[in-house]
Amino acid sequence: MQTAEQQSVKTACWSCGSERAAGLPFCDACGKVQPPDPGLTYFDVFGLPWKLGLDPSALERAFYKLSRKLHPDVYAQASAQEQQWSLEQTSLLNDAYRTLKDPVTRTEYLLRLEGVEMQQERARESEAKKEPRIPPDLLEEVFELNLQLEEMRMNQKMGEDDPQLRGDLERARTLFEGQLADADRQLRTLWSEWDAALDAQDRPAQTEAKNRMASLLDRRRYVRNLVRDVNETLGT
Ligand SMILES: [Zn+2]
Repeated sequence: MQTAEQQSVKTACWSCGSERAAGLPFCDACGKVQPPDPGLTYFDVFGLPWKLGLDPSALERAFYKLSRKLHPDVYAQASAQEQQWSLEQTSLLNDAYRTLKDPVTRTEYLLRLEGVEMQQERARESEAKKEPRIPPDLLEEVFELNLQLEEMRMNQKMGEDDPQLRGDLERARTLFEGQLADADRQLRTLWSEWDAALDAQDRPAQTEAKNRMASLLDRRRYVRNLVRDVNETLGT
């Protein structure tokens, strides 16, 4: 497992031999495109520390700047090898940007880098498609919701409409959407805790923040699926 400290690893440019920081797609000295380093993380691609509270507009600017420099037109006269590297770097850059720009995928990615296993992955690995565990404080609401969804589907099969039931489901959806918004706010708080713990190199605090983010994301995923179920049933 790569650690944050490895970001400072130096390597030599294939073309001019200058020492350069591993990760960035170009040599500082001669500007030549470099082969992608297989151990690179998406944070390394942007020369960023493994922090979560990043500035989305700075990330976007960095993405477009690198994309322009890696554009195939720039390499029209370059060697086949450099053209190939520029394509590989572009594909890595696109994946990195797509993952880091979204708050949830960024957090999930960091947790995976840090070796934290989320419920999603545990389910995937066990092959058996087990039902995710219901967050304990939602047991009652989920039980109620599932009954209502069942009834709604039954009504639809019979070609009947029950405005009361529809209203109940719409209220439930509003409730769960509110919980998603809460989860997003809590996630931002945990980002700050993680980022501060990383700066302070406080391992116990990092572990605490990671575990709390993992369980928050498990919960968020669960609630998001409930909203999806309601939307599918209501046909919206
Ligand atoms: Zn160079």
